[in-house]
Amino acid sequence: MYENRIHNFSAGPAVLPLPVLKKAREEFLSLNGIGMSVLEISHRSREFEEILHKAEQNLRQLLSVNNDYAILFLQGGASLQFSMVPMNLHIPGKSVDLLQTGMWTQKAQKEIEKICPVRLAASTEKENFLRLPTKDEISLSKDAAFVYMCSNNTIFGTQWKWFPETGEIPLVADMSSDILSRKIDVQKFGLIFAGAQKNLGPAGVTVVIIRKDLAERADRNLPTMLQYRTHIKENSLYNTPPTFGIYMIALVTEWVQNLGGLEAIEKRNEEKAAILYREIDQNPLFYAPVKKEDRSLMNVVFRIKDNNEELEKKFVQEAEKAGLSGLKGHRSVGGLRASIYNACEKSSVEALVNFMQDFSRRYG
Ligand SMILES: *Cc1c(COP(=O)(O)O)cnc(C)c1O
Repeated sequence: MYENRIHNFSAGPAVLPLPVLKKAREEFLSLNGIGMSVLEISHRSREFEEILHKAEQNLRQLLSVNNDYAILFLQGGASLQFSMVPMNLHIPGKSVDLLQTGMWTQKAQKEIEKICPVRLAASTEKENFLRLPTKDEISLSKDAAFVYMCSNNTIFGTQWKWFPETGEIPLVADMSSDILSRKIDVQKFGLIFAGAQKNLGPAGVTVVIIRKDLAERADRNLPTMLQYRTHIKENSLYNTPPTFGIYMIALVTEWVQNLGGLEAIEKRNEEKAAILYREIDQNPLFYAPVKKEDRSLMNVVFRIKDNNEELEKKFVQEAEKAGLSGLKGHRSVGGLRASIYNACEKSSVEALVNFMQDFSRRYG
């Protein structure tokens, strides 16, 4: 019945766990026998409140989030957070320390600068973002309003394996492409946000985990919808939230719990990435441009030797024909990229490795 599902390496919106899609399909016309779809019920109904509660509690449990933090389900994508974060957290007269590691932090910088000054505490732009800053290269100021970073650079394929110590200064992280892929210490952060469409569910909902006291920095004259405090106070029900997305997050987080939580998922992700990087390193036709220590376990960026763009094009086309989808690198960097988020099965990675071996026999 599911034979027509192929190996999906899309960077986002991305593959979802098959058991989750099946469950959603099962319940699609009538949620728990209530005779209505989740798409058709009030966001203030008991049924939906239960779903919202479940999504929040599952995230809280998986990430060990204590009650100093609120978990919000917002709209506007991760991109709106580039503006909401500085609107709410900036402090007049202070600047923001930003760790410049790729296109998503560049986009964030552009928005933050509309609100307050940004200081680059480190940048690897000169090296085309093929690595992350080292500890020595980061210079944090003592009185920044907050420190801003992106934990996993979806486009360049780098991922932080450690997080800078920022002391009393809140650390803000865009975790859109690696949230729930590994254990993290939420208490090290003032705010974490993630668009759902990579590791959490469908597009249209953004998860924000915010230390509640930080929401009080915001000017009360900010538009009501753009204040975190509004959504904290109303438990993400100030207006109609993205109900279907929240429902899917509840199912995806339940699936992660059933797999054994973040420890198990992290192990699974390490295994998958190791299989793929091993092939890239061993197969003379391919190479990985990113510095080894900084390689992402979520977005595996690779190239054909000598950056042979013709052959890369062929690779993508033939892969597509062989049932392997989404392998083209981001339009800004070219090359190849396999996004192997939580829901990507090891069997898909193995299928990709087999295809690479076959391709290199024919063209290598
Ligand atoms: C995809 C992505 C975004 C953009 O998300 P939208 O929901 O499209 O705004 C931002 N940051 C990172 C790290 C991403 O991977």
